[in-house]
Amino acid sequence: MLKKLFKWFKKDVVHATIVPRAEHGISRDNISKNALKVLYRLHNAGFGAFLVGGCIRDLLLGKHPKDFDIATNADPEQVKQLFSNCRLIGRRFRLAHVHFGSEIIEVATFRAPHVASSVQNVHGMILRDNEWGSIEEDVLRRDFTINALYYNIADFSVVDFVSGMQDIKKQQLNLIGNPEKRYREDPVRMLRAIRFAAKLGFSIHPNSAKPILTMGNLLANVPAARLFEEYNKLFLTGHAYSTYNLLIEYDLFKQLFPRTAKLPVNDPFVVAALRNTDARIAAEKSISPSFLLAVFSWQPLQELAQRIDFHDAMDQILREQQRVMAVPRRFVGMIRDVWEVQQRLEHRRTPRQIESLFALSKFRAAYDFLLLRAQAGEQQVIPSAEWWRTYVEGDEDVRNKLLAKIKPSKRKKKKPKVNTDTLSGTQSC
Ligand code: ATP
Ligand code: MG
Repeated sequence: MLKKLFKWFKKDVVHATIVPRAEHGISRDNISKNALKVLYRLHNAGFGAFLVGGCIRDLLLGKHPKDFDIATNADPEQVKQLFSNCRLIGRRFRLAHVHFGSEIIEVATFRAPHVASSVQNVHGMILRDNEWGSIEEDVLRRDFTINALYYNIADFSVVDFVSGMQDIKKQQLNLIGNPEKRYREDPVRMLRAIRFAAKLGFSIHPNSAKPILTMGNLLANVPAARLFEEYNKLFLTGHAYSTYNLLIEYDLFKQLFPRTAKLPVNDPFVVAALRNTDARIAAEKSISPSFLLAVFSWQPLQELAQRIDFHDAMDQILREQQRVMAVPRRFVGMIRDVWEVQQRLEHRRTPRQIESLFALSKFRAAYDFLLLRAQAGEQQVIPSAEWWRTYVEGDEDVRNKLLAKIKPSKRKKKKPKVNTDTLSGTQSC
């Protein structure tokens, strides 16, 4: 039986449905031992201690949570006093991180509504807020009902203020409060709606879905560094292809990749790369944020490079993309490498050049990129891709035979006129 609890919150009534241990499927066996340690210590010190957010949603859905977040009425300083392995972080929100080797358990103090305490910009976006509140206040600041369920360590019940359990059963995403206001406060919530819809296969309730179609331009006000973080979560967590389709459907892709969005939808190279990224993640292979970024801007780069110098085109494309999302410098370097090496892979000249290309640390990414171009039907690279595939997959004997077929290049003599078309070293195997 569900027990109903009614509480007054300012002028609103906040109803909490308490789902007892026997009526939900969350078992402590599936909760991180370190998270349980933190919960018990807070509880034993007399504080309220709850698991909240994505971990509860994922446990209810039978998935393996990525991390375990805790909410409490202890303030960050009080949390710090309880744990010697605790560090306080964050400017916008002060948070406690409790460290257990590589696992970090994040402990957040319940937050009050933003109105009185926050600083907003002219678009109504929250820039800074840090007021502590009650659980009834904390719940109203969360994004979706399915992300606002609290698991109470005191009695192992799930506390549901916003019909999150029902939405989990209905498999739908519902923003808490007025959707337009919530998107204006934080436009990233639009991207989060897409991300969870793609990851969980949930629908977005029409009330939460409709405003996205007209409010996407607010993403232009989000700091570029935050958008890069969101890009990683959107595209590098195993659901890149469905995320791409939803971003297109909700007209948000153009906010993240303005030039790529001008290509026909489902560009074969883009689709091949998205599917390849998902497959690599499913196979637990390594991935880099730079690879898909290099893919998204490849066609725009080709078009621009027809009008201006290739290196200037690279600079311009990268500069434009940096204005939208702040890609860290090392990844920009990797994008540039992959693009630059394409030409060298296509025009193999001498055995020595081939061997030194193969030895480069950037070879693998550039080679994968070339294979995908061929797979996506770029006719002129298919012979080069096949040649390299035979070389890479072959043993020493196969490689030597391939290299032997390349005639050694003659040094270009410094004569006034040389017909380069007939130079014997220029091979495209
Ligand atoms: P994931 O499994 O991808 O980590 P998550 O729901 O745990 O999903 P986090 O970004 O880790 O997502 O955030 C933890 C919780 O904090 C969310 O479940 C939600 O309750 C709240 N939250 C995060 N970002 C926002 C936001 N932009 N607006 C409101 N609440 C948010
Ligand atoms: Mg999380």
